[in-house]
Amino acid sequence: MTREEAVKFAEHAVNMTDIPEVKEFYRMAAVALTPPTQEQVNKAWRGEWEDMREAYNDVPKRRCSRCKRVFIGPDTPFCEACGAPMTDEAVEMVMERWEELNG
Ligand SMILES: [Zn+2]
Repeated sequence: MTREEAVKFAEHAVNMTDIPEVKEFYRMAAVALTPPTQEQVNKAWRGEWEDMREAYNDVPKRRCSRCKRVFIGPDTPFCEACGAPMTDEAVEMVMERWEELNG
């Protein structure tokens, strides 16, 4: 059974029982077996610079929304600490690299 078939089976099986716990089980199985979309992956792993200027008396500091490390200086495309991409271009660069590596 492929993963796609397993998802279809689980979705179908939800309607084959009246037992709420079993329905819930099949629903959870279908969700767990469905791989995330590229968009969901991007969202989960992409970071954003939070402007900390106000908290630091106008010193141009920025905080990574992913790892919460604070840096001084202008925004960079990637977080220097955790490597999360911070801009659309950075996300695209990583996706291109990822596609190269995964054929
Ligand atoms: Zn970070």
